[in-house]
Amino acid sequence: MDNNATDNLEDLFAHNRSWSARMERDRPGFFTSLVKQQTPKYMWIGCSDSRVPANQITGLEPGEVFVHRNVANIVVHSDLNALSAIQFAVERLKVRHIMVVGHYGCSGVQAALEGARIGIADNWLRHIQDVRDRHHVMLDTLPEAARANALCELNVAEQVVNVAVSTVMQDAWGRGQSVTIHGWAFGVHDGLIQDLEITVDGTKAMENLYRAAVQRIRYKWSKPAETPTSEYIK
Ligand SMILES: [Zn+2]
Repeated sequence: MDNNATDNLEDLFAHNRSWSARMERDRPGFFTSLVKQQTPKYMWIGCSDSRVPANQITGLEPGEVFVHRNVANIVVHSDLNALSAIQFAVERLKVRHIMVVGHYGCSGVQAALEGARIGIADNWLRHIQDVRDRHHVMLDTLPEAARANALCELNVAEQVVNVAVSTVMQDAWGRGQSVTIHGWAFGVHDGLIQDLEITVDGTKAMENLYRAAVQRIRYKWSKPAETPTSEYIK
């Protein structure tokens, strides 16, 4: 290991110690209360991208949001990792809101859009290519620079549905548990979250919500760009 890498890791421990000391100084007993329980109201399903840290961009503290992240915020019907996290959040922690959060400039979405070969992740991103293919007529009519942003939002809508149709959510709503799923998109370029208004609480027909969300996405990205374009993609 070279010296730089060692230095960097030592920096992380130093930052950690000063953060811990600052928290304990400002809010005595903060960590002892965390030890006893976590009672987050929110579950965040987001992209692993290092520019989209759930707690920081929502101002939430340790103990306030239960987080699941993977490449391009995908919820696959048979993904035991995601399903286990959702079940734990809903049944044990009793979260009230689950937000599926995509982000503009997502390299996973971009790769899926272009059909770029990355490696094993191609198989994972195939799920986004399925979304792309489902909406290819609409995507083809959009300005080229808007397509990745539109696909980012379409992917969020799709994953909201995938969470909603999971056995975990169907059982929760069947029991009368109040949990609402939201679809959001984060702008790496401005740090702002947008609500895509695909909000599912188990009481309304999901098909209609999904269709309305897709219409909004088409309308929004048909217009001349006012928000991020592909220049934000890194
Ligand atoms: Zn991403």
